[in-house]
Amino acid sequence: HFDVSKPLLNRLLEGGGRRILRAVDGLDFSIPRGGTYALVGESGCGKSTVARLTVGLYPPSGGRLTFDGQDITDLARQRGRRAMAVRQRLQMIFQDPYASLNPLWRVGAIIAEPLRVLGLEPSRRRRDVRAGELLEQVGLAARDRYKYPHEFSGGQRQRISIARALANSPEFIVCDEPTSALDVSVQAQILNLMRDLQREHGLTYLFISHDMAVVKHMADHVGVMYLGRIVEEAPKGRLFSAPRHPYTQMLLQAIPSLDKRDDPREAIRGEVPNPLAPPTGCLFHPRCPHANERCRQEVPRLHATREGSRVACHGVEEGRLTLAQAREARA
Ligand code: SF4
Ligand code: MG
Repeated sequence: HFDVSKPLLNRLLEGGGRRILRAVDGLDFSIPRGGTYALVGESGCGKSTVARLTVGLYPPSGGRLTFDGQDITDLARQRGRRAMAVRQRLQMIFQDPYASLNPLWRVGAIIAEPLRVLGLEPSRRRRDVRAGELLEQVGLAARDRYKYPHEFSGGQRQRISIARALANSPEFIVCDEPTSALDVSVQAQILNLMRDLQREHGLTYLFISHDMAVVKHMADHVGVMYLGRIVEEAPKGRLFSAPRHPYTQMLLQAIPSLDKRDDPREAIRGEVPNPLAPPTGCLFHPRCPHANERCRQEVPRLHATREGSRVACHGVEEGRLTLAQAREARA
C-alpha cells in the first residue's frame, strides 16, 4: 500500500532562474498493492513533481508519504541502511529512454548498476548473468548486454530502462510518461509489457501520463490533476463512463483512442494558466464553460459523490452539473 496523505505540499522552487519543481498542493491518494493509479493532466500540471516526491528524489515541504505503513516522507534526506532498503523497493521509469541511459556504458552494466550501487549482488559475474536474464524478461536477448544504447531503437531502449528498473526486484514503480517519447506503433507493445510484468511480479504502479488513451489502457484508478491539484478521482470505469469535472470532460473529448491516433485532435479550449500567477477561486474557471461568480471567488474542495468518486467542483456539488450531463460528456 502506498499512501500520500493530505496535504502533500511542494512549493515552486526556483534555482538560478530555472524552475525546478512545479507546485503541488493537497495531494491525497492511496494505491493498493498490485494496482495501478494513474495521474493524468496536461504538461506543467505537476505530475512529474509528484513522481519525484514519491520515490524520494525530492523532499516534500509538508504532508506525509507512507509505504506499507512505513513513513517515508523524509526519504530524500535520508542515507544509511534503512533508507537504502526502502529505495530498493521503489523504482522509477522515465519518459525519455535516450536521456536516461548512459551512452558510454554497455547495456549489461547499465542494467546491473542498481545491484552494484545498492550492494545487492557483489559478484560482477553474477551481476552480468542477471543482466542477461532481465533483458530476456523484457523481450530482448541476453547477448544484447554487450551492446551500447545507440544500437537500439526507442522502444528497445525503453525495454532496457524497464529491465534496469526491475534489477533490484522493486515492489513499487513510478512510471513518468513511459511511452510518450515513443512511436505510436510501439507504445502499445511497451504498455502491454508493463502490464505483463506487473502481473508476474505483483508490481504496484503510479502511472503518470498526459494521455487519456494510455491511462484507459493501464489504470485501475485515476486522479486528474490541474495546476498541482487533484480535481477528480475515480475508478477508471467510472471516470471514462461519467466524467464529472468539466476539466476531465475536456480531456476525454480532446483525445482519440489508442487505435485511432491519426484522427485530428480537437483543440483543448484555452491555455493552462501561468502557475506562478494562478487564477482566483476554481483554478479551472477561465477555461470552464460552466463557471459562475462563486467559481471565480471560492476554491472548490474535493468531495465524495454518491457514485464513489471525488470531485472538486462547485457545479457538481450544487447539482448544476448532473450525472446525466456527465454521461453525455464521456469520450
Ligand atoms: Fe467549472 Fe466552477 Fe466547477 Fe470550476 S468549480 S470546474 S469553474 S463549474
Ligand atoms: Mg512531466
